Formats: sequence, structure tokens, C-alpha cells
Amino acid sequence: MLLFNKKHIKEIDGHNLIAYISDKKVGLEGYIAIHRKNSSHPSFGATRLWNYSLNDDAIKEALRLSRAMSYKSALAGLPCGGGKAVLMSKKDAFTHRKEYLKSYAKKVNLLGGNFITGSDVGITRDDVMLMRKVSPYFVGVKTNPEKFTAMGLLYGLETCLLSVFGSEDLANRSFAIQGVGKIGTEFLKLIYSKAKEIYVADIDTLRVGEIKKMFPGVIVVTPQEIHKVAVDIFSPCALSNCINHRNVAELKCKAIVGGANNQLENSSIGSLLHRIGIVYAPDYVVNAGGLISVYDEYEYGNTRVKRVEERIHNIKKTLKKILDESKREKVPTNIVADTMAKEIIASY
Ligand code: NAD
Repeated sequence: MLLFNKKHIKEIDGHNLIAYISDKKVGLEGYIAIHRKNSSHPSFGATRLWNYSLNDDAIKEALRLSRAMSYKSALAGLPCGGGKAVLMSKKDAFTHRKEYLKSYAKKVNLLGGNFITGSDVGITRDDVMLMRKVSPYFVGVKTNPEKFTAMGLLYGLETCLLSVFGSEDLANRSFAIQGVGKIGTEFLKLIYSKAKEIYVADIDTLRVGEIKKMFPGVIVVTPQEIHKVAVDIFSPCALSNCINHRNVAELKCKAIVGGANNQLENSSIGSLLHRIGIVYAPDYVVNAGGLISVYDEYEYGNTRVKRVEERIHNIKKTLKKILDESKREKVPTNIVADTMAKEIIASY
């Protein structure tokens, strides 16, 4: 394990550490970033496995995602810092998946409990169960973070609908969900019987087929079209930077509420959305349900659903505060949320 610090990478912004990890025998290569570690609490952030072609892309992703986890934790009222692991999947990684994951779990052990992790893009619950046998620093074994993420998304959605349309009711509302993996599917389950119309897209055509069987009423479009569909709500539930300078002018939604982390390519995209009248529910505010549930598992050694639900319900209050302030002060929602998160972090 090779450790970097602020002296080595200028993009580091309030990060405590970025570690390069590798194990050539199993094809493991990736980065673990810790954005904020307060002395009495570890940093939380899930592990992503994706086919990044450049190490530079993977480092930047780990840095940005771990910072977003700090902000998420702050606005969710949790004391933990933010972290993230980004693993660069190689073709042969899947041939020896179990060995690959076990080797990664041993690397997590080297951080001595400063980094607590679970499943993100490309990592399944079974993977987490396997890695937990090697490392006590994996969470999401006694709770289902995806279900709780979707619960928070629904609360965020209702708050946003009330702010934009004057009613929380989904009955007359149309949706476009980008990515129907773990989070997209759990969110779809919650809105399927209530919404007027739901469009979905995924680059994984097998997954799209399964979704169409489970939810025959959804309308499948291509990944190239999904953000362009004229709907009330665009819901990004796939990868980072999905709203960027190339596609922002193509959006035809009224609001954005989704589970994906780092949806905006950069903060100026938030300003653009604000200017064109699309209400953006900051991703790390509305997708905090999973973090809240795994933190509960860590804190209490188990998860009590009622306790977790109460904490997740606070997403409504936090988002309402952000949307109200954005309207009142004419400031983009992403800026309002970032400012609130930074203030909380500075007060520790
Ligand atoms: P996942 O791997 O289960 O699903 C992601 C899906 O997106 C896959 O089906 C993939 O094929 C699809 N996809 C990728 N690129 C796409 C594109 N351009 N267009 C359409 N589909 C595309 O991952 P997940 O755990 O569901 O996570 C999805 C997002 O939610 C990520 O940004 C993640 O960081 C965020 N998130 C996850 C959790 C969690 O508990 N898993 C919690 C909070 C936030």
C-alpha cells in the first residue's frame, strides 16, 4: 500500500489520505481516499468497482466521492468522516473475483479501522458478505443499505414535488430513471404503483430485460435518450458526472432527484440548472439513507429499523431548508448544500 498526502497531489482538498492499493497476483489496483477523519470517528464510504481506463480518473473519482461522503455525513447529522474506495476492474479480475475481493479486504485491514466500507457500483451484497469474513471493517451485512437509500430518495422526492408542484402526490408525475442497478431498482419499486409514467435505461441490456419482466409498465429507452425525455423528474441512479456541460441543455425535466453520487460534473452545472429553472435535489442530501443505515449498524452492532427510519426522515427537513433558501436567496441548491455542509464540518 502506497500512501499519498497533500504534498503529492494538488487536487487533494481537505483530504487526510489517499492510498494506492495493488496486488498484481489477482489484478487488484485502486485507491482509497479519506476526506475527513475526526479523531474519535472513522470515515465511511462504500467501495466502487468500475472499469476506469486511467489511474488519474480513478484517483479523481476517489477524491471527489470521499469529499461528497463527508458532506453527506455532515448533513445527515452523523459524526463520521467521508471516505471512498475506487477499484479499477480489469478483465481478469472477474475470473478470480473471490481472491480479488479477499485481497482488497486485507488492504482495508491495513487502515486499522479508520476506513469503514460497503457496497457501491459493481459490488454486491454477497461480495460484502465475503469480504466481511476477511475484514471487520465492512458494513451492510445486517442492514440493506440500498432499500434505505431508496427510502431517503422517496422522502427527498416528496419534498421536491411539494416545492415544485405544490403537492407530494406522485400520481400525475412522470419519471426517467438512469441506471436500474441496486439503487435504481429499489427506487423503482417504491414509485412503480404510484407514478403516472416511468422511463428507464441501463447500459446493461440483460438488466433492462429483467426490469421489463418485473415492471412491465415501464418504458425502456436507450442510455443516450434517458436524460432527454420530457418528464417531471429525472432520476440519475448510475455513475458520476451524468449531468455535464455536454448534456445539460438537453434536459427536459422539471427537477432532478436521484441516487447517484456526484451527479454534477462540477459546481457550475448546478448554477446552470438554477438559471434554466430545473430544481436539483443535491445528491448527497437525498441519497444518505444507505449511509445512515450502515452507520447505525456500526454504532449499535445491529440495525433497528425504526431508529434508522427516523434519521432518514430528517432528509425531508434538510432538503426543504435547502430548497427554501435557494428560492429565497436565488442561490443554486448545490451551493446552498455545500455551504451548509462546510459550516457543519468547520464547527467540529
Ligand atoms: P449498481 O452497480 O448496482 O448499478 C448501477 C447501474 O448503472 C448498473 O446497472 C449499470 O449498468 C448502470 N449504468 C452505468 N452507466 C450507465 C449509463 N451511462 N446509463 C445507464 N445506466 C448506466 O450501483 P448502485 O449501488 O445501484 O449505485 C448507483 C449509484 O448510486 C452510484 O452513483 C452510487 O454511488 C450511488 N449510491 C449507492 C448506494 C448504495 O448503497 N449502493 C448508496 C448511495 C448512493
